[in-house]
Amino acid sequence: MAQRIPAGDGGAKRTSQVRVAVRLRPYMAREDDKTEGPCVRGLDAQNLEIINWRNATETVRYHFDAFHDENTTQQGVFLASVKPILPHILSGQNASVFAYGPTGAGKTHTMLGTPEHPGMIPRAIREVFNLVRLRGEEQEDWDYSVAMSYLEIYNEKVLDLLSTSPQDLPIREDKDHNILIPGLTQTPLTSFANFDRHFIPASLNRTTASTKLNQRSSRSHAILLIKVVRTQRCPPHRQQTGKLYLVDLAGSEDNRRTGNQGIRLKESGAINLSLFTLSKVVDSLNATGAGVRVPYRDSKLTRLLQDSLGGSAHAVMIANIAPEYAFYFDTFSALNFAAKSKLVVNKPFVRETLTVPVPRVKRAREEKEAEPQKKK
Ligand code: ADP
Ligand code: MG
Repeated sequence: MAQRIPAGDGGAKRTSQVRVAVRLRPYMAREDDKTEGPCVRGLDAQNLEIINWRNATETVRYHFDAFHDENTTQQGVFLASVKPILPHILSGQNASVFAYGPTGAGKTHTMLGTPEHPGMIPRAIREVFNLVRLRGEEQEDWDYSVAMSYLEIYNEKVLDLLSTSPQDLPIREDKDHNILIPGLTQTPLTSFANFDRHFIPASLNRTTASTKLNQRSSRSHAILLIKVVRTQRCPPHRQQTGKLYLVDLAGSEDNRRTGNQGIRLKESGAINLSLFTLSKVVDSLNATGAGVRVPYRDSKLTRLLQDSLGGSAHAVMIANIAPEYAFYFDTFSALNFAAKSKLVVNKPFVRETLTVPVPRVKRAREEKEAEPQKKK
């Protein structure tokens, strides 16, 4: 894995790559669309294929650090992609987990989940408290404290979701290159129950109101920050702070399509800017070779994440995708954003359900019959 020294941090830290996982949600088309079948599916734990609309005799295959298929449980995603980074937070390092993808592809399900199937946020917080308890038992010379902040970036404004009168907050950097948000509410947490009580109302606050397409939740980035401070009990009372950002990003769909005038147009511009900058940042971090400029300052989102994405931080992106044809172009662009590599394969996408008599599908069926043992 390529490591390089980023500019601007005195060479003290090394740049780490961003781990990229893709999660495909289950097929959920309406009854009358069911005959279409999925247009994307997994091949193994790192690869998937999608039908190539330009040429139906081809599929496009993508390679990722991890691929989670439609049967992967929340616990499965957590164990593979999130749990391994959490111990670093207790040792003064930073980390970020963000869910990327079009609206309706499963970002909020992945991050927040439901009471029956809790997502990465509640699981990560439980695990942080678990680790704090274990550390307390093992090494008696450090005290740990945990606090949460919850904010959103909407139209390039940083808003405190735990404040009753949110206003655009500044983002600052201290001499050690830590990113700070003066004025952001920090709520101390002593247990998971404590977290639930503060977070759930604030999160509901954000997601209610308006219609599905232009819902605020699909047009802003929701950012949960968990800070773990550990302090040595004896002199010199060293102190280390670790930060974990858990981010449910704005929808990555082509915002030009979703009816945009006035306020919507402004939102679209802000979303496009921050997601485009995020993609440039991830590309720069994952590029091999020294001297690649990481454009953190080009958007509020990446500026905020600067000390927790790249450097010595541990970052994971979960790109959520949906299998229905209605999502095809958004899936394609999300995969291109996330892919480690891709390959056009001269072999049609073999359908599981073949009821629509269109030429593309027929060709797929002929191919399937010609090679019965290749795919089930
Ligand atoms: P997004 O936040 O990306 O707009 P959601 O998380 O709201 O998408 O998901 C859209 C719908 O799909 C919701 O009804 C959600 O419950 C469902 N869903 C998403 N991912 C899964 C999954 N892995 N398993 C079951 N249902 C899912
Ligand atoms: Mg959502």
